[in-house]
Amino acid sequence: MNNTNPNNSRCLQGGIRSCGGCGEKILDRFLLLALDQYWHVNCLKCSCCNVRLGEVGSSCYAKGGMILCKNDYVKLYGSSGACAVCAKLIPATEFVMKVLGKVYHIDCFNCTTCHNPLVAGDRFHVVNGRLFCESDDPRLLKQQLHAPKQTVC
Ligand SMILES: [Zn+2]
Ligand SMILES: [Zn+2]
Ligand SMILES: [Zn+2]
Ligand SMILES: [Zn+2]
Repeated sequence: MNNTNPNNSRCLQGGIRSCGGCGEKILDRFLLLALDQYWHVNCLKCSCCNVRLGEVGSSCYAKGGMILCKNDYVKLYGSSGACAVCAKLIPATEFVMKVLGKVYHIDCFNCTTCHNPLVAGDRFHVVNGRLFCESDDPRLLKQQLHAPKQTVC
């Protein structure tokens, strides 16, 4: 007899929001606020994997006109890691050289000693993440150090 109608109660003040995804008004009881816009729960999806970002409860990222879940954001725009030479992060979009689990800027991929650029296919040596061309192999230098020195009179 008590005609309560819970679905009719508008808890939102200040008008109905429109969805940042489909542009329709959001009449649902749940709406998402993300990236300075309101969204239907079903509309805030990752542009890559279509996961519903409201559901996974993870942070979402907007980049290049796409909305991305964290995983895809890192995949697309994250970094490949820090360059083993200059220690700066390399964006995942940048082409990198990878050697023995370390990454290098193309520009940093050169011999530590003579600074000659090393290209794939070159013979080079990696010592503690640092690169050496074949003639600057520090192990060879070490051998030279151990070699008997010329006595200077
Ligand atoms: Zn929508
Ligand atoms: Zn995704
Ligand atoms: Zn570098
Ligand atoms: Zn060299």
